[in-house]
Amino acid sequence: MEFIDLKTQYRELKDSIRDRIDRVLEHGQYIMGPEVVELETRLAEYVGVKHCISASSGTCTLLIAMMALGIERGDEVITTPFTFIATGEMIALLGAIPVFVDVEPLTGNIDPAKIEAAITPRTRAIMPVSLYGQCADLDAINAVADKYGLPVIEDAAQSFGATYKGRRSCALSTIGSTSFFPSKPLGAYGDGGALFTDDDQLAKAMREIRIHGQDRRYHHPRIGLNGRLDTLQAAVLLAKLERFDWEVERRTQVAERYDRLIASACPGIVKPCVLPDRSSVYAQYTLQVDARDELTKALNALGVPTAVHYPVPLHLQPAFAYLGQGRGAFPIAESCSQRVLSLPMGPDVTEEQQTQVVDALQVALRKTV
Ligand SMILES: *Cc1c(COP(=O)(O)O)cnc(C)c1O
Repeated sequence: MEFIDLKTQYRELKDSIRDRIDRVLEHGQYIMGPEVVELETRLAEYVGVKHCISASSGTCTLLIAMMALGIERGDEVITTPFTFIATGEMIALLGAIPVFVDVEPLTGNIDPAKIEAAITPRTRAIMPVSLYGQCADLDAINAVADKYGLPVIEDAAQSFGATYKGRRSCALSTIGSTSFFPSKPLGAYGDGGALFTDDDQLAKAMREIRIHGQDRRYHHPRIGLNGRLDTLQAAVLLAKLERFDWEVERRTQVAERYDRLIASACPGIVKPCVLPDRSSVYAQYTLQVDARDELTKALNALGVPTAVHYPVPLHLQPAFAYLGQGRGAFPIAESCSQRVLSLPMGPDVTEEQQTQVVDALQVALRKTV
């Protein structure tokens, strides 16, 4: 069993993927070819926003979004410490200061009730993460942001395809940013990402920043970078969109079946908490358990691969030691990082595999008490 199975999906889509790739090889427009434009049009429609700007990764999209908002050295950006490094890392790369706010215990998403206390005259943006495929509480976050005139960037690297009060992730704030890293819910065969916004001005800025700050060839009104999505990756993504709706549906089914199996086999375990006003795309199916590391060993020994997202919250990473926030600064994020455990997840996980995982979980739990 693999933690994330990408091979079954390839077998199912093989003809379209190869056909799409062949067409790129024939026309030879490897940079900003027609597939890039086609993908952006399709994704903007899917998300329900005016503009989609594809980019080279979900890390690069965060950087481009903040550059477009004019965030610079000494500015503060409010975010969560319980995320992948890229979220805080891109803030720091711009010389800005990540200001962490603790998370909700059950969803692991930033706690909107704690944001206002972290706002200072130097705050320039709020950057929530929609963790494990479930949107952060964007209405509550937007309400605080509006009160102080701040833009909100949704780091939706894990939540592309999720809904929040009937709207899609990436369409819920000033800018939505997602990733097409192969194992994300919509994955390419390499790196990729995309930005979403309804704001014409920001869209123009982000398009320019993506290509060296250029508005037309060899004219550069601003500083940018090389942040383009490869045409070949756009081609792969277009083929993958053919079964994306089915995959989102399947992820829900797999998660609901895990919920049922675990509730009856291991009733004490804390299962993923998806709130009633939103849907998750289950980028991860993540439990909270005691004695996580022992349990992991026992599960792995029984042939079940697992992962931890994430074992060290950002404020305790050596790279952020300069912020001077030690253990105890964000107790809920710290507790989550010690308790979370992700099980094999994806549209192609079979019922037999799920039964095997939960049987192993039951055995492993008995061994670790
Ligand atoms: C994956 C991820 C990123 C970075 O995306 P890449 O495409 O790998 O650069 C950023 N933020 C979060 C929350 C992620 O999960």
